[in-house]
Amino acid sequence: MRISHIALYDCASHRHVRMGAVAAFLRETFGIPAVSRTSPYVDRRDAHACRVRNMFRPPERWGEGDAGDSPLYDGYMLADLLGGMLSHDEGAFHVLFVDDMIGTYDPADMRYHGRALISANPCIVSVRGMCEAPARPRDYCIDVMACAASGGDAQEVESRHGGRFLTYDDPRMQEVAHGYVMQAVFHFETGEAFCTDAGCRLYNSHWQSDVIHTQVMSPRLCGRHQDALRRMAAGAA
Ligand SMILES: [Zn+2]
Repeated sequence: MRISHIALYDCASHRHVRMGAVAAFLRETFGIPAVSRTSPYVDRRDAHACRVRNMFRPPERWGEGDAGDSPLYDGYMLADLLGGMLSHDEGAFHVLFVDDMIGTYDPADMRYHGRALISANPCIVSVRGMCEAPARPRDYCIDVMACAASGGDAQEVESRHGGRFLTYDDPRMQEVAHGYVMQAVFHFETGEAFCTDAGCRLYNSHWQSDVIHTQVMSPRLCGRHQDALRRMAAGAA
């Protein structure tokens, strides 16, 4: 493997995404050590400069008139900023967990999209993005809108659809976090982002139902990626 060890930074401090469990998962899966390191200190102004100033333009086309008060951070700008603060020892792969929403500009439909993962080195996993970036079920969204329009009981809608998507305080976040880090490690090692097999843990889930299926209900790799993992683990030994 190109990676000899993994450094984890817990900038999110989420109670259901524990670094000890992430480290144990990475050791068991890839056979390489993972350790927690102190999170980098980020100056507020530097962080603010990474905020998306226009949802419909890439950073190089942001202008004076663009507001800059979006809660979304440009994932690659944030990765550059945070990456500059880490000590890059040979063979290290850095994983930062953040609480903020991160996004990337997609030239295909000319707008930003929220992401749970920025797959680079350092890689960034947004715990809020795990809940909010993959879409919730269509019928849930329709029920929420109908409820708001009729002044109905919003809590009743939430409990009726409970468990079908991740919520911020969801204990399933731990397993889902493991899957996102696994995707980033595979991407870095193989150069291939994601898998087209909807049953594989490396599948790029756009829906919450796919996230829950591939990471919690049936967390497995497809045959091709099981082979790739065996080759990687043999190389790590
Ligand atoms: Zn696969």
